[in-house]
Formats: sequence, structure tokens, C-alpha cells
Amino acid sequence: MDTNAAIEVKELVVKYGQKVAVNYLSFQVPMGTIFGLLGPNGAGKTSTIKAIIGLVEKESGTVRVLGRDAASDLAWIKSNIGVVPENPALLDSLTPNEFFELVASLRRMKDTNRIKSLVDAFEFREYLDTPIASLSMGNKQKCAVIAAIMHEPKILILDEPFNGLDVRSVKIFKDIIINHVKNGGAALFSTHIMDVAERICDRVCIIDNGMKVAEGSMQELKETIQGSTLEEIFLKATHMEKEIDEVVKALSS
Ligand code: ATP
Repeated sequence: MDTNAAIEVKELVVKYGQKVAVNYLSFQVPMGTIFGLLGPNGAGKTSTIKAIIGLVEKESGTVRVLGRDAASDLAWIKSNIGVVPENPALLDSLTPNEFFELVASLRRMKDTNRIKSLVDAFEFREYLDTPIASLSMGNKQKCAVIAAIMHEPKILILDEPFNGLDVRSVKIFKDIIINHVKNGGAALFSTHIMDVAERICDRVCIIDNGMKVAEGSMQELKETIQGSTLEEIFLKATHMEKEIDEVVKALSS
């Protein structure tokens, strides 16, 4: 076991009936690292994240968070991570104020100043007393983000965290993630936004059909896969480059 690993996934298999969503996937997220999990639609990113946070049962393999086994220490792990799920369940009948109070009490937070700072940072104050059900998609996402990071967890696990956020909020959230990792934390996030991943990830893992097709720092990937941007590397690693050329040619002929 690597004691410096924030998250260790080893030979993880996730199945839904006969469907293999994650196929012997292994990677490590060291502390002090922003780690991007990339892949086309249906590649297995959400299933991997769900297996790490105990939302789906794995078929086989091991998942460790801060050295603890996710199968036996899930409650401890949950108190040390902040999660933005793909489709956050936010208790629609509550207002954000009530929701944040609930989450803060579940996490036994005594000092709520950080919530106030996050609400101001995301310009969310005017929505605090609006029922969550009536919030726009982006404001629901802001609500999920604030709830996930309010207790300053050591590890952030974020599934498409920038979904629906406006440009200002994406920038603020990116900077929060970067500072979090500079201060010794770690972040694992999935995204389809290659520019963001390229700019903030220390390391990326590209998966396709549940299997790893590439992993490394941007520099390593540029050298091994020979692309000048992460988009180019992604399309090469997932064998989409030629197919896209053909599709576009067919459309323009
Ligand atoms: P996206 O980028 O579209 O969000 P993803 O990489 O997160 O995709 P997953 O959601 O993990 O991919 O899905 C991996 C595979 O597992 C897909 O083929 C998907 O259809 C299948 N799958 C996911 N959830 C279920 C489920 N609850 N029941 C059956 N199949 C599922």
C-alpha cells in the first residue's frame, strides 16, 4: 500500500447485471495531486466514482481512501471526503439555507463562517431562502458544490463538477480546487472539458469501455501519445480521431 495515496483503485470491476461498466481498472491519486478521470460517454467514470464512495457495490478489486478500505471503513471515509455527484440529490423541498444547516449538523461543523464565505464567493446569497426545487440548474450545482466542500475535506471527489456552472463560478471553483491541493489535499474529478483538465490536472487517466487506455502527467502523455493538446491525446487514445474525420467529411460532402 502506498501511504501517500489519497485514493487507490486496484483491479476494480463494476458490473450491472451482465454489463461490465468498469473492467479491472487501477490507478492511484497521490496527496497533493489533481487527478482527472476522462473518457467518452459510458466509459465508466461515474461507476468508478460511485464504487469509490460506496454508491455501487464492486464485483471485485480494492478501493482505498487514505489507506482505509472502502468496503469496511466507509463511514470514516465519508467524513474525510467531499463529493459532488453527477446528479446531486438535494432535497428539493428545503431551501439552500436549510440544506446547508442539515449538512453542517451531519458533519458536526461548529464554525459556519466557511459556509458564509463560500456563499459570498459563489454569489449565492440571494438564493438562500428559495426552495431548491425552484433553483436553476447552475444554482443547484452551486448548492451541491458548497455542501460538498464546506467542511474542508482532505479529498475532493467530483463527478462532472462544472456542469451548469457559469464562467465566473467555474473559475472560482477551479481556484478552490487548486488551493485545496496546494495546501496538501487531493482531488479526483471527471470531466468532458478537456481545456479545464489540461490546465488544472497534475495527472490524468483516460478510460474507454471501462478500461484504462492512457495515464500520466500532461508531459508524459504528450510524449507517449504524441499530441499537442489533451483533446488530441484523448481522441488518439480512444481511437476516435479517424472516425471523427470520416463523419465530418461525410457531413460536408
Ligand atoms: P458519461 O460520460 O456519459 O456520464 P460515464 O463514463 O460516467 O458516462 P457510466 O455512467 O459509469 O459512464 O456508465 C458505464 C456503463 O455502465 C454504460 O454503458 C452505462 O450504460 C452502464 N450503466 C451505468 N449505470 C447503470 C445502471 N444503473 N444499470 C445498468 N447499466 C448502467
